[in-house]
Amino acid sequence: MKCKYCSRRGEVTIPYARLTLCKEHFIEFIQRKVLRTIKRYNLIKPGDKILVAVSGGKDSITLLQLLSEIRKTINYDLYVLHIDLGIGEYSKSSRTLVESYTKQLGLPIIILELKKILGYTISEIAKKLKRPPCSICGIIKRYLFNATAIELKATALATGHNLDDIATFILKEFFAQNLTGIWKLQPYNESYKDIVAARIKPLYETYEEEIRKYAEFMKLPYMQEKCPYYKPTTLDNVLKQKIKEVEEGFPGITIGLIRRFIKNIDKYPRPKTSFLKCRICGLASSGEKCSYCKLTEKLLGEPMGYKTREYIKSLIKELK
Ligand code: SF4
Ligand code: ZN
Ligand code: ZN
Repeated sequence: MKCKYCSRRGEVTIPYARLTLCKEHFIEFIQRKVLRTIKRYNLIKPGDKILVAVSGGKDSITLLQLLSEIRKTINYDLYVLHIDLGIGEYSKSSRTLVESYTKQLGLPIIILELKKILGYTISEIAKKLKRPPCSICGIIKRYLFNATAIELKATALATGHNLDDIATFILKEFFAQNLTGIWKLQPYNESYKDIVAARIKPLYETYEEEIRKYAEFMKLPYMQEKCPYYKPTTLDNVLKQKIKEVEEGFPGITIGLIRRFIKNIDKYPRPKTSFLKCRICGLASSGEKCSYCKLTEKLLGEPMGYKTREYIKSLIKELK
């Protein structure tokens, strides 16, 4: 079958859009689609300072390439953030890959090495605290993302969440009937004073399979292997697989869910919009101390939020 727009052979079929495209037109299709998402939800404006979190996986590497490309259309500053979790060879390869690709794009990068910040890797912390590595990792990454965006005075932190991720999280919150939790699944989450950074998800309307194809056609360098702690049997991963199966039988059903979700967002109960300030580090918290300060206090006998922010500040100074 031929490409819809030229005489070349079609290489990708996009069932929900009833389109068959050649490689070149597919690349254009994705770039336009992401730019449209950015404009539709007003995610980035000229003059913004965007910090993009890049793990080295296909989604974040694709996001980085696209955000770098889109700067030709919208004029904004772009900074890269990579967290070295210290998970053996996996972290070493991810860091090398992200560093070299960022250099190739000519962008500034902030690398936060957990071993340097806390003296321990994720695996070591999990063992010491007798907790699953992913729950520790989630708390630490969330904190470091937010703290870096705040210290950099970034307009927003961009993450590589794709359409399948969002649909999965919506269903997960729905199963748990955590209807206020659904609010954070919008493409744009506002900042709060100087304690919560704004977050954007430019791949919000892009299917994971489209990202995979785009990365392959663009020959983007990304980590093929997953983190050794990744488990396909978690609720998130099982749900995501099921959503993919439903999408195969009913093309377009996932994007339909996302669009209706955004349209109906006001019908869900609003979460409280005020936060407390952590007594130690001054960033957002639900109580006296934030989760990061509590976790590091358990680990080291001293809450590390303030020191971590100072360390990030010093790295940012070196950038300039
Ligand atoms: Fe962290 Fe778990 Fe993801 Fe590995 S799989 S990066 S430990 S959250
Ligand atoms: Zn074509
Ligand atoms: Zn704190």
